[in-house]
Amino acid sequence: MKYKSTRGSIDSISFTEAFLMGLATDGGLIVPEHIPSVDIEKLRGLPYKQLAFEIFKLFIDDIEENNLKRLIDKSYSSFDTPEVAPVVKKDGVYILELFHGPTFAFKDIALQFLGNLFEYALSKRNLSMNILGATSGDTGSAAIYGLKGKKSVNIFILHPFNKVSEIQELQMTTVEENNVYNIAIKGTFDDCQYIVKSIFSDLEFKRRFNLGAVNSINWARILAQIVYYFYAYFKVEADDLYFSVPTGNFGDIFAGYVAKRMGLPIKKLILATNSNDILYRFVNFGDYSIKGVVQTMSPSMDIQVSSNLERYLYYLFDEDAAKVKGSMEMFLRQKSLSFDKELLEKIRDDFESYTASEQDTLDTIKDMYEKTGYIIDPHTATGVYAALKSNHKDVICLSTAHPAKFPKAIQKAIGRLPEEPETISKLKHKSKKMSVLDNSISSVKEFIEKSLKK
Ligand SMILES: *Cc1c(COP(=O)(O)O)cnc(C)c1O
Repeated sequence: MKYKSTRGSIDSISFTEAFLMGLATDGGLIVPEHIPSVDIEKLRGLPYKQLAFEIFKLFIDDIEENNLKRLIDKSYSSFDTPEVAPVVKKDGVYILELFHGPTFAFKDIALQFLGNLFEYALSKRNLSMNILGATSGDTGSAAIYGLKGKKSVNIFILHPFNKVSEIQELQMTTVEENNVYNIAIKGTFDDCQYIVKSIFSDLEFKRRFNLGAVNSINWARILAQIVYYFYAYFKVEADDLYFSVPTGNFGDIFAGYVAKRMGLPIKKLILATNSNDILYRFVNFGDYSIKGVVQTMSPSMDIQVSSNLERYLYYLFDEDAAKVKGSMEMFLRQKSLSFDKELLEKIRDDFESYTASEQDTLDTIKDMYEKTGYIIDPHTATGVYAALKSNHKDVICLSTAHPAKFPKAIQKAIGRLPEEPETISKLKHKSKKMSVLDNSISSVKEFIEKSLKK
């Protein structure tokens, strides 16, 4: 399988080149040259790691099979269950628990794999790389846990200062390995993301420091996330199956879209947002326009510009790269895009969307707890809210984080704290390591230069 950019200036690169590149050098996002279709019957009932291997093989042809198997095995052995992504049924909704990895959020599923992939590919090529990324909380900790102590890589992670949860901050900043650099920016997540994008577009700087990306624009992350849609589908096996996905950067739900295009018989994807509802407006009204970011109790979804939407637009525009490029440039100027009736119908063939207010989120956590004793985190709650609101019979809701990562919201919703895994309690005694920087591109560039000179 070869890869190309959504903006048309890159094509025929290998999988390894694609994931090492991160953001495409023409400013677009990397997509496979075609989306392979699968024989569903061959995948039914496979254990998680084997399923991952069968799916990855369709997209990766430049890593030998035994090495790929080894990387998969190493990546998913760090999970606390061999199932990796178990499905439970609560209050009529199937819950796909994606929080069994080392940082208790679904991002571990992609980032444990990506960390091993980087180490493997870089060592093999005798290269080293500096990973630069922005996080609203969960990506950062999952990326750091994926890469800490790995050979041939350093990692610089920007997070909005004081705007991530206490546990997210602890997870990121208590890591001792000296290939990890935490940068707290005095601004919002969108500011962090903007700084990272701008640094990547400075090609001279990017080359000089051999920068790579692990945020959800990296194709390998999307790839790793495709697997659990298949896994959950086989666990439930209903006709007319829907997936409800708590969405921020459109990465996780885009993986579901790819799974659907590969032939997984998903009826539709239900896109759940919190009060940051740009994607809800996109799906329901064809209105993709920026409003200010509001802070909610589901901070990993406090996002207005969804960096992965461009991948979906590419398919919405029937793989017309020029049209994608034009639209993204227009979006940069106008801060909004609108979609006509015909396109909106196409969007609505794939998605439906609901938006959960803060009160809806609290009520959903409370109802679920009162009916079943099961505690869901506030991100998952937006997905469960959307699943129930949709009124479809069989919905699998992606549970994207363990409730213990968001104790304040849980306390507020049900009047008690969730049980805390021991790995989290232990972090509270460790010292934190981070650098607080001004909200500017130059301060981050200077920091990187200074750190790597040592
Ligand atoms: C990142 C994250 C999301 C949103 O995922 P996207 O791929 O950005 O849409 C939802 N919930 C949690 C807990 C997350 O960490």
